[in-house]
Amino acid sequence: MAAIPVTIGARRPEPLASVALLGDEPGDSGRPLVDTHGRVHRDLRISLTDRCSLRCTYCMPEQGNEWLAKSSILGTDEIVHVARVAAAAGVTTFRLTGGEPLLRTDIVDVVRRIAQLRTPDGEPVHVAMTTNGIRLPDFLPDLQAAGLGRLNISLDTIRRDRFRELTRRDRLDDVLEGIAAAQRSGLRPLKINAVAMRDVNDDELIDLVAFAIEHDAQLRFIEQMPLDAGHTWDRARMVTRAEILETLSARWELTPVPGRGGAPAERWQLDDGPHTVGVIASVTAPFCGDCDRLRLTADGQLRNCLFSTTEYDLLPALRGPGLAAPPASGEGARDAAIETMLRSCVLGKLPGHAINDPSFLQPARGMNAIGG
Ligand code: SAM
Ligand code: SF4
Repeated sequence: MAAIPVTIGARRPEPLASVALLGDEPGDSGRPLVDTHGRVHRDLRISLTDRCSLRCTYCMPEQGNEWLAKSSILGTDEIVHVARVAAAAGVTTFRLTGGEPLLRTDIVDVVRRIAQLRTPDGEPVHVAMTTNGIRLPDFLPDLQAAGLGRLNISLDTIRRDRFRELTRRDRLDDVLEGIAAAQRSGLRPLKINAVAMRDVNDDELIDLVAFAIEHDAQLRFIEQMPLDAGHTWDRARMVTRAEILETLSARWELTPVPGRGGAPAERWQLDDGPHTVGVIASVTAPFCGDCDRLRLTADGQLRNCLFSTTEYDLLPALRGPGLAAPPASGEGARDAAIETMLRSCVLGKLPGHAINDPSFLQPARGMNAIGG
């Protein structure tokens, strides 16, 4: 089956190898998802919805967001189907995200069914979630019982007025209850993500790390990326990795933790430990060379990079006739069509993102519709 990538906006073309190999024999499950730069892809981030209970300024506009069509949102079976084919091709970690993943009524089911998948070696896969934490107290016991293994919660400020301004919702208490529930749950390592922003929360970096330590969590600062739906990102205003480290150095002695592997965060030990802090410096210190991630949007588009303007539409493979590609008939044919699309997406991956390139074009989707 021919895979049809859709390019949204002009950017550097993806490698010809992706075209040359489109006719690869399907049903090659078990062969790892290796791109033309030798990177093996083992991490699939699944966005479950573009809807959210917050409206963080760096992610979504307050009003006028263009929501994904409800009819295009993948159902539970479709999500699990893609995950099953991905696991057979060597994906070992599935991170559920959004939008806000806990807004999905089938969230426990999705976790349970993905957690039952096995890698080609027969090993259980890992299921992780990134959430704003708001509905965690309701769901966490069931999520853990279903097989959720890791949790990242986002929190950019611990000041109520600031939280309300930044997220345009007065829900700090709900997030704090979510973090308390996560702390009680024993899921470790528990990670707290904070986007560092100039004149917004850059005077709170030390307080946020201290808050994380109190809650037995690892704070990870994220450099703000050009992924807001309002396209308002301004390089001159972003807080860089260097600035974050300089600020933290005034309070702690920072010692680099070796063995980062493909992880997006570089980590530093605080004083003599045991606590650490992480920085995800996607803009000033990109880690594309070790990237092992793919993304599936809530409306069935595979993406090989947060910043890519090319998407690989899985809906025809999942839903068959009536859409843009030849129908797959039968389960085996559908599996093969999904696998072909996964491989095409991987082969189309560029060596790195182009945020720092004058030709960079921000993706049309905001972060809430890509899946962070
Ligand atoms: N709603 C969930 C949450 O906030 O954790 C999951 C989805 S959210 C898009 C995933 C992560 O992306 C969050 O940690 C958020 O802070 C981060 N994020 C969103 N927009 C961003 C941007 N423009 N730059 C950097 N990080 C961003
Ligand atoms: Fe919602 Fe997460 Fe985006 Fe904030 S960062 S608006 S919580 S999806």
